[in-house]
Amino acid sequence: MASSTHNPDRPDAASDRYPVIHKGPVPGRVEPNLQDYDATRAGFTWQAIRAELNGLPNNQGINIAYEAVDRHLAKGRGDKIALRWLGKTGDCREFSFDDLYRQTNRVANLLQTLGIQKGDRVFVLCTRIPALYIAALGTLKHRAVFCPLFSAFGPEPIAERVNAGDGRVLVTTRRLYEKKIAPFRDSMPKLEFVLLVDEAGEEVDIPGTLDLLALMGEASDAYTIGPTDPEDMALLHFTSGTTGKPKGAIHVHQAVLMHYMTGKYALDLHEDDIFWCTADPGWVTGTSYGIISPLLHGVTMLVDEPDFDGPRWYSILQEQKVTVWYTAPTAIRMLMKLGTDLAKQYTHPSLRFVASVGEPLNPEAVVWGQQALGLPIHDNWWQTETGGIMIANLPALDIRPGSMGRPLPGVTACIVRRLEGGGIEEVDAPGEEGELVLKPGWPSMFRGYLHNEERYDRCFVDGWYLTEDLAMRDADGYFWFVGRADDVIKSAGHLIGPFEVESALIEHPAVAEAGVIGVPEPTLGQMVKAFVSLNPGYAPSEALKRELLGHARKRLGAAVAPKEIAFEEKLPKTRSGKIMRRLLKARETGETLRDTSTLED
Ligand code: ATP
Ligand code: MG
Repeated sequence: MASSTHNPDRPDAASDRYPVIHKGPVPGRVEPNLQDYDATRAGFTWQAIRAELNGLPNNQGINIAYEAVDRHLAKGRGDKIALRWLGKTGDCREFSFDDLYRQTNRVANLLQTLGIQKGDRVFVLCTRIPALYIAALGTLKHRAVFCPLFSAFGPEPIAERVNAGDGRVLVTTRRLYEKKIAPFRDSMPKLEFVLLVDEAGEEVDIPGTLDLLALMGEASDAYTIGPTDPEDMALLHFTSGTTGKPKGAIHVHQAVLMHYMTGKYALDLHEDDIFWCTADPGWVTGTSYGIISPLLHGVTMLVDEPDFDGPRWYSILQEQKVTVWYTAPTAIRMLMKLGTDLAKQYTHPSLRFVASVGEPLNPEAVVWGQQALGLPIHDNWWQTETGGIMIANLPALDIRPGSMGRPLPGVTACIVRRLEGGGIEEVDAPGEEGELVLKPGWPSMFRGYLHNEERYDRCFVDGWYLTEDLAMRDADGYFWFVGRADDVIKSAGHLIGPFEVESALIEHPAVAEAGVIGVPEPTLGQMVKAFVSLNPGYAPSEALKRELLGHARKRLGAAVAPKEIAFEEKLPKTRSGKIMRRLLKARETGETLRDTSTLED
């Protein structure tokens, strides 16, 4: 991005259409100092956060799993339910902190017996079954590196990641093994141990594999965590592959400070919360907030085994008395598509707010949340690389629909433009668009891309981390997402962020989802083209196309509105639920797509 534009349409126009949602203090819930956000930021220190955690006994450092599990036992929370697992066939299993403590100790001892060393990579390819969570925490206790793989990956992306990460151990299920590993085992020559778990808890006896549960049963349930340096590698997370080949981001044990801080401020977690994060641990949200952060705060966390199911999800919110719910724009848009009537059939008086991450949250979705769920939806912005939430709508802050919120305490964010000769320059006028950059120094900042130092180095300029996302900051310090730098459209001299166009289209009652790209065009440079999927009750037609084009033109003006619209049954998405605009683009230009390993079926 060489230049930036000022778009006077944002955010004032947006806030006219979407009035600010004012929130008073939530009695007895939100940290009182959060009501004075600036004071919280000004008084914030990482030392104070560190002091709220324990650290390993005898000053042996800091270990994520110790903070998440073991320390609760000393605090008398051993019997408290840490994990409530809801299986797809209706069964429910509960694990107290004490159960997790013993089971994760068994995993750590088992790894020890296998000769797995500190820093060795343990890959986990599981559907959302309890063994996944136990293996993750046991691996961290043993100071091996937890490397999650999304269970819907095909054999090739699995082998590629295991090989790239020099995986010595793979924990997986019988079914996934038979389908995706066994026929390809030779392609992973460095993989020494495959630990299998049968989904139904049956014994497994497959040559070349070990039975995880049986071996855990033989292992001791006592384990002493070894010295863990805050900089010891803890997690290897592959990015979503939205813009290209997924990158392996390395995170260290001291990331736990960030998991804790963001759980406190952004998610407002308290010990008596019932917290549900719908993300799969195959993606960073599902690890940072689907395992670590809630456990750090001693809450009861829910895990639901199956994938999205509107009525099921509503009944979980209701019956489990969920208090804080963390999900994604794609899920919210699917609930919107199922209609307000369905939403209104359920109540969830315990639920305080919904948090959302992964993609821009359309203002229309925030308004829908108020109307249909009666709840504020808090947008959160962050990346695999940042390891934790960076910019968010905090519980005590008013919501500006369409805005990502403000940087969290301890986070310094800024908008810059890249200069022609290298270097960057701050864009300080409110409302002016540029690249979002972050000042390194927060604990969960990634420490590298696996085997790609050059790519990592390119992420930094003049002491700032470049996010490759475009955004702008308004006069009150709220950040507004514009688009990924890769996705920004240059049409007749205008820079157009796809998010704004998509959000305008979604305002139309016929539109469920929209993906907007620039298509090469001789006079304009790029022409704005939109792909939309429709809500139930609407069918593609030329008349509807004209109506949508007219609606967008009225909302956005002729320069920004799409010139063409195509109807799609379903938009192409990554398996983590992000619209894959690069696929739409490649289809238009006849280019061959680079990596499609994370493309949804
Ligand atoms: P890759 O880096 O492989 O192309 P990815 O960037 O989608 O994939 P993730 O790290 O999972 O991988 O996603 C981070 C990106 O998701 C952000 O850089 C941003 O573009 C988008 N994102 C996340 N949260 C938000 C949000 N609240 N609003 C807008 N965009 C968001
Ligand atoms: Mg990215």
